[in-house]
Amino acid sequence: MRIHDTEFDLGQQVWPIQYHCTQEVVPCGFCAGEEVLTGRDGSRQHCPRCVDGTMIHYTEERWHVGDAMTVGRVVVELTDEDHGCTREVTYMCVETGVGRGTVWGENSLFTSRYYAAVEADRRIAAGVRP
Ligand SMILES: [Zn+2]
Repeated sequence: MRIHDTEFDLGQQVWPIQYHCTQEVVPCGFCAGEEVLTGRDGSRQHCPRCVDGTMIHYTEERWHVGDAMTVGRVVVELTDEDHGCTREVTYMCVETGVGRGTVWGENSLFTSRYYAAVEADRRIAAGVRP
């Protein structure tokens, strides 16, 4: 069994795609940012939809191509399952930490900025979420 066949090699330059969303804090629409609601009987109760009169509003959610990175660690994990063997390959890159840092899946890295951009566009068009 060959386990060393991986999509990317140590030292190879790769481009990642990541899902980013920006978030902003906005006043709660239910309590109009007042945090406490007053009932018809005059009793008051904390708003059930927010904590402090504010909510987090997620705005732009998209796939983005990141800066070029260098593969610094390749991990091939083979697991003996009832119905065969599963194989998972993950990578760590110099720029995002090797040993400790971001673990990248094989489907998040690409051999060129162009291929990464094509995949990011495809995921945006298809409405793919992580
Ligand atoms: Zn509220």
